[in-house]
Amino acid sequence: MTERIFYTDVYCQRFEATVLACQPQKKKGYEVVLDGTAFYPEGGGQPGDWGTLGGVAVTDTRERGDEIVHLTDKPLEVGATVTGQLDWVHRFSLMQNHSGEHIVSGIIHRKTGGNNVGFHMGSDTITVDLDVELTAQELAEIEAEANAQVWANGVTHIFYPTAEEQKTLDYRSKKELTGDVRIVTFPGADTCACCGTHVARTGEIGLIKLLSVQKFREGCRIEMLCGDRALAYVNRILEQNHQISVALSAKPMKTAVSVERLKAENAQMSYRLNEMEQAAFQQKADALAGAGEVLLFEPPMAPDSVRKLAVAVMEVCGGRFGVFAGDEESGYKYAIGQQDGDLGAFVKVMNQQLHGLGGGKPFFVQGSVAAKKTEIEAFWQG
Ligand SMILES: [Zn+2]
Repeated sequence: MTERIFYTDVYCQRFEATVLACQPQKKKGYEVVLDGTAFYPEGGGQPGDWGTLGGVAVTDTRERGDEIVHLTDKPLEVGATVTGQLDWVHRFSLMQNHSGEHIVSGIIHRKTGGNNVGFHMGSDTITVDLDVELTAQELAEIEAEANAQVWANGVTHIFYPTAEEQKTLDYRSKKELTGDVRIVTFPGADTCACCGTHVARTGEIGLIKLLSVQKFREGCRIEMLCGDRALAYVNRILEQNHQISVALSAKPMKTAVSVERLKAENAQMSYRLNEMEQAAFQQKADALAGAGEVLLFEPPMAPDSVRKLAVAVMEVCGGRFGVFAGDEESGYKYAIGQQDGDLGAFVKVMNQQLHGLGGGKPFFVQGSVAAKKTEIEAFWQG
């Protein structure tokens, strides 16, 4: 059985141990077992530790029976004494986030009776699944209370109650537990059965930030971040807001107002542009009234504008009308119309010869062609 240094000294970052076994993994790398380790193996929702053993990289740590297996990229000599060095930034972040999750789950349990039914520590965010629904307002209150617990800097109490004590102890647990139960208590906030690593004082969590809540199965899912991850997240959001602030020449706290104004201006401009475009199309249509068959080339336009122009001219020209909007590089979008006409055969051949796609009603079709202006003109005249 591997000695679990992370339970006797959770802050141990560096230790010496003897290599008991080293086996190649199925695909690549090695599995190393020591007589004792400070590397926490994946479990209880907390990912395994990373670091080095005798200078060799440890990419993950897992539990197998009562042994702890270190996954390394190179082999180590059995019997050798090696120095283990944890990736402490990674591990301490997991401690901050795991402890923060307990405090949040404990507060929710006390306030609503809701239970944490799923917990995942991903590389981006931590998610907590609950069997109750929470409003954004409740989330804000829970966040405030959780951070008050952090600032109170309470001492974490971890113990193994006797079978008798266990009967009367009120603690959260995802499953019925038998035998030795490890209880993690954050006084005033939470008591929970857990095998993970936790900070010794709540102040070390730094910050608890609840990011979102959304309906999930019978309850809800909360996204949250603590400590270094919460700080990194806040900095990323600040950078986004800074960029918007600079782009809009708006004060950092006025970016949302500025975006709303910009959207309103944009809507107004779209409306005016639409009206002007419609007037311009009408002018073109008036000029082509009674012209018979007409082929028109226009600069690139939105498909809807191509359609509007085609409808306006088709109604007055008295023949087949085609508009091709685009350029030689990216091809042309087209709309072809003829009042009471049947364009089916014409458009089928056109799409074949001009590498086109499109269709519609017998009297009106829309699509695009990958062809040059001269080719379109030649086909139209042919
Ligand atoms: Zn836990």
